[in-house]
Amino acid sequence: MNFPLQKFKGLQTPFYYYDTELLDKTLAEIKRLTLPHFHIHYAVKACTNPKVLQHIVQAGLGADCVSGGEIKVCLDAGFPADKIVFAGVGKSDWEIELALNAGIFSFNVESIPELEVINHLAHDHNKVAKVSFRINPDVGAHTHSNITTGLAENKFGIAMNDMEKVIRLSEQMSNVECIGLHFHIGSQILEMDDFVALAHRINELQDNLHRKGITLSHINVGGGLGVDYDNPDLNPIPNFKDYFATFEQHLQLRDGQQLHFELGRSIVAQCGSLISKVLYVKEGAAKKFVILDAGMTDLIRPALYDAFHHIDNLSNQDGKDRYDVVGPICESSDVFARDYQMPITKRGDFIAIRSAGAYGEIMASQYNCRNLPLGYTTEDF
Ligand SMILES: *Cc1c(COP(=O)(O)O)cnc(C)c1O
Repeated sequence: MNFPLQKFKGLQTPFYYYDTELLDKTLAEIKRLTLPHFHIHYAVKACTNPKVLQHIVQAGLGADCVSGGEIKVCLDAGFPADKIVFAGVGKSDWEIELALNAGIFSFNVESIPELEVINHLAHDHNKVAKVSFRINPDVGAHTHSNITTGLAENKFGIAMNDMEKVIRLSEQMSNVECIGLHFHIGSQILEMDDFVALAHRINELQDNLHRKGITLSHINVGGGLGVDYDNPDLNPIPNFKDYFATFEQHLQLRDGQQLHFELGRSIVAQCGSLISKVLYVKEGAAKKFVILDAGMTDLIRPALYDAFHHIDNLSNQDGKDRYDVVGPICESSDVFARDYQMPITKRGDFIAIRSAGAYGEIMASQYNCRNLPLGYTTEDF
């Protein structure tokens, strides 16, 4: 990935930089592999930078939203309402009404009380809401416990065993139409076996439903494909080929069934970097600290999930030393990397914290009364 370092020099740091050439290549790879019965929804919670969204809208993807605010952002960005799906365990009445009035493709419903409220509100608005049920498949993904969502102990979804009951219940409701099943087992998943396990669980469930005379038209397998945080330059585009092939090979779709995906991180993570300047290099008793002007308010993943991000010194590639790379926030967890080997680093150097396009800018906060980071793309330079 190339950084327009000279252009960065006049800008206030920290800021996000999105390489939209890489984003377009990533989107082209997805489109190349998209079969006629595939529907790709971008999970917008990963990044809603408007310039990034424009590229994704242009590529023709749909959207996966988890709030009314996200639905508004998507409609404003030009995503067609009939390609929007809406998930989340706690949908407020106004969010449901917004989605009903916009005419979204489907509500991904996570509980019976929610189904009842949707039916009720749809009745008030004289609409029929299309719903899919989010099933908790009790499949554990090999990923950080905070981002595992498909286990029975998680708050997400409806238990496999309650499935038939919920579908029967929806059949009796006048203002909902059940069109599909929805799953999402977690995030940053690199083991294709986890997706194989999901596919097998879906097959099992479909067989059960089939015996009871139930076949739905849409299967949504969620998202969760991971990216290579260790080697962003080696693997700038995630392995979509194996990912899609895994479902092609292991998931038994019924005639005419449509297959939906909700990809977030894998679309935007590698194209984004957090650009920061070194404020100080401080020699502590036991180690050296590189103190950046970016902190956990700009990129919270290391503090929140123990996440690793590769760090480049854009100003100097010579020599090497080991540093703790930290931010300026008054929290001990404001650390990007410990004992990290990088070129000799000094005050004023430009630093790129890589693979930060997903769950980066969107999770920024103003803690310590800091400014939110700005976001630039390749087209801005
Ligand atoms: C977050 C989320 C996604 C996207 O997850 P990624 O790991 O970023 O691909 C997809 N579906 C649902 C329901 C989500 O909550």
